[in-house]
Amino acid sequence: MTEKLYLKTLDAGYYQHFDAVVTAVEGNNIVLDRTLFYPLGGGQHWDTGTLSGPNGNLDVTEVRGRQAVHHTVEDAHQLEPGDEVRGSIDWETRYAHMRMHTAQHLVSGIVYEHFNGARTVGNQIHAHSSRIDFNPIAFDEDMLSILTEAVNQRVDEALPVTDSVMTRAEINAIMPPDRTNMDLLPSSVTELRIVQIGNRLDMCPCAGTHVTNLEEIGHINILEKKSKGKGTQRIKYDLIGSPQLRQPYTTTL
Ligand SMILES: [Zn+2]
Repeated sequence: MTEKLYLKTLDAGYYQHFDAVVTAVEGNNIVLDRTLFYPLGGGQHWDTGTLSGPNGNLDVTEVRGRQAVHHTVEDAHQLEPGDEVRGSIDWETRYAHMRMHTAQHLVSGIVYEHFNGARTVGNQIHAHSSRIDFNPIAFDEDMLSILTEAVNQRVDEALPVTDSVMTRAEINAIMPPDRTNMDLLPSSVTELRIVQIGNRLDMCPCAGTHVTNLEEIGHINILEKKSKGKGTQRIKYDLIGSPQLRQPYTTTL
């Protein structure tokens, strides 16, 4: 089990460097006791970066796994269990994912609110553009304008984004389960990390990385919509405008 440093608080997402100990080397994969690298999951792409150990720097090209996090490198044999490493994530990519992912929560919340409770049934968060699938929905140009305007207005309000741990019953008492997708989570999950925008404007269980204020997102720009059949439509967006960008912490976790 790898300790997920990026999950401790939203603020932990702003760290770029961390120290860890190698616990296993399996093929091309390095397992660490703790990591800031986000593994593929929840629609969010993995972080890239480097692991610096006793034999130099290794580029991390892929990160997967929910229990033990596997960091894929080319020369894994340069490390062995017990080695101390300093990990550094590629901040440009990480921060783009944080901004894109928070935008996804906002868009999903606003679509649910404005368009008859349309659900978010899938999402893919990448650094340059991201996409969200909704159902049931039939977007026309007017709806896309209403959506874009509502999202960008919230961004201009510079609402804070916060996280907390809640029980199933607590979140279900506040948010409809078809917005949070709580009905899709196994009942064995009793406590959840909840990401909240503003004062309950949107609340959603999520283990991804997010910004701490909507002003860091900038404005969303919807690039296209595509029908995926059976009442599902996909929108693709990127981020434009003048976001209030933050810098990563220079200290090491
Ligand atoms: Zn999320």
